[in-house]
Amino acid sequence: MSTARTFKLLIDGASVDGESLFDVINPATEEVVGRAPDATRQQLDQAVASARRAYPKWKETPIAERQAMVAALGRVINENIEELKRLLTAEQGKPLGDAEQDIGGGAYFCAQSAELTPPVEVHEDSDVRRSATYRVPLGVVCAIAPWNFPIAIAFWKVAPALVAGNTVVLKPSPFTPLTTLRIAELARDILPSGVFNVLSGSDRLGPWMTGHPGFDKISFTGSTATGRRVMESAAPTLKRLTLELGGNDAAIVLPGVDVQSAASQLFQAAFANSGQVCFAPKRVYVHSAVYEDFAASLAELAKQAKVGDGAEQGTSFGPIQNRPQYERVQDLIADCRTNGYGFLAGQDNVPDKGYFVPLTIIDNPPADARIVREEQFGPVLPLIRFDDIEAALEQANDCDYGLGGSVWGPPELAEEIALRMDTGMVWVNEFGSMAPSQPFGGRKQSGFGVENGMAGLLEYTSIHTIVTAKQANVA
Ligand code: NAD
Repeated sequence: MSTARTFKLLIDGASVDGESLFDVINPATEEVVGRAPDATRQQLDQAVASARRAYPKWKETPIAERQAMVAALGRVINENIEELKRLLTAEQGKPLGDAEQDIGGGAYFCAQSAELTPPVEVHEDSDVRRSATYRVPLGVVCAIAPWNFPIAIAFWKVAPALVAGNTVVLKPSPFTPLTTLRIAELARDILPSGVFNVLSGSDRLGPWMTGHPGFDKISFTGSTATGRRVMESAAPTLKRLTLELGGNDAAIVLPGVDVQSAASQLFQAAFANSGQVCFAPKRVYVHSAVYEDFAASLAELAKQAKVGDGAEQGTSFGPIQNRPQYERVQDLIADCRTNGYGFLAGQDNVPDKGYFVPLTIIDNPPADARIVREEQFGPVLPLIRFDDIEAALEQANDCDYGLGGSVWGPPELAEEIALRMDTGMVWVNEFGSMAPSQPFGGRKQSGFGVENGMAGLLEYTSIHTIVTAKQANVA
């Protein structure tokens, strides 16, 4: 019998046990961090029923009150950040500073969403009539989060959904449920019963949720493969969907770039969270004029970096979050070896225990290499040499994904290239800034719908247009 701490579900304002528990593993030590409840189908029904019961009152609650409660939720997350970040590092693997950013990001998006009020759009206000579009909530939202940013991404969904007047059932990834379940405990006394429910569970829970007729909307972040299944199971009841899926983002490094500065920014961009970032640069096209210098700078940074247990002082990069993903990344590295691609970094030792992968850089693999074509979602970065900028742009766009990208070099040219990248987001000579007012979302098979900003809030609403004759039709 394990002595690890156990956590509870949040259903209808109460912390409840699951019928059984599953182990959550620390990816740095492979030891059990805690045990999460495996929600049953009946508990899912209870959570959905409580969210449905809470909905009419919540949607009629003045928006200022909803905003105040979501802001309070953000504050309580921040007040407990010391405890929460240790738990997140233990279950997710990321260094403590990164865990603080992930949790702080969740709190920040609560605060930012609490500032937003959907606008009323007036189309006509004449002597004859007034025509205006209001925004109304959708109902009960199913929010499904991944394991790479368990808290920030969960609250990108929960905060705007609640502000807009919906009630929510949130499901964290089975690999990283614990910090979310602890936040659920903290939320219990802030939000009315049933408004916010949290269920953890094994692999069966996600499909049960997305197929459940009691949800009006699914907001899903995860892989493209799972996104397809979510879309299928949403069809019978025509649930609204936001799908934030995978990416294989290109970075293009132009001649005339400041090599040192671009290399150090791209290094952080590509390897932060050990490469497990949806919009990380996952293939870097580098012009021949700067290839050698750029590759040498990047390789030096990779060799100096400390990869280790995120709980240890001085660790910059943690392990891969879970065993299946670790095996996938190892398989891609093995494929590079088998095909004889050059390694500019990545042969160094990392701890034996835990899902550690050294920061790895592959030297100019061919366009059809798996490491170029597939989303690696790990610390293995291919650098691809080019001479012709148009050809590099064509290769960057020759991809089923369309999430993000970046261009580095002389600003005017870089911006011109950025405008021609087929993605939802492109950074030019910087990386990763996510202003809360900035909508974020993918094109092509990176999904559809947006998160953040007013556009993100409106995803949790439906239009409600009222046309009123000025000439009252009364006797
Ligand atoms: P995943 O698709 O394996 O899982 C995501 C979530 O879906 C988890 O909570 C999981 O339990 C649940 N799930 C699994 N099968 C399901 C099903 N059939 N129905 C409903 N839910 C199901 O993804 P992951 O491995 O956790 O995350 C990594 C992927 O997420 C990468 O591809 C990454 O690019 C992508 N991602 C995208 C964004 C974005 O904003 N576009 C952000 C972060 C991660």
